[in-house]
Amino acid sequence: MYKGSCLCGSIQFTLKGGVTDIIHCHCSLCRKASGSAYATNAFINADDFELTDKDNTLTYYESSQGKRKYFCNKCGAPIYSANAQSPERYRLRLGALDSDISERPISHNFVTLKANWEDLDAELPRYEKYEPGRV
Ligand SMILES: [Zn+2]
Ligand SMILES: [Zn+2]
Repeated sequence: MYKGSCLCGSIQFTLKGGVTDIIHCHCSLCRKASGSAYATNAFINADDFELTDKDNTLTYYESSQGKRKYFCNKCGAPIYSANAQSPERYRLRLGALDSDISERPISHNFVTLKANWEDLDAELPRYEKYEPGRV
């Protein structure tokens, strides 16, 4: 079981299962959403995810139809995203985790869109778009 939270602590969550498909995404949307060189995201089962929002600060930005990026409106921390086309799973923002995890990243994605000041020094496969096998 993993635990996580936003920067200010208003939002806390528990993840009963593990995470899958951890990737570093370098696309411009992920860079802007994270304010960083890339976003590190993983799939989780929606049923495994229990979130408490004591100050009602969880909000979302709908980046395109049916795709909601959830974040804390007090501290700005990204938490997860949901896609109406696959409601059974979420995409967790891995930096929101407080727990150590046993899973590891599998690739760098959208590397042709990366920031030109970042030099990709990790020993992971690199893909122009999604990793092979992503559905
Ligand atoms: Zn917060
Ligand atoms: Zn991305």
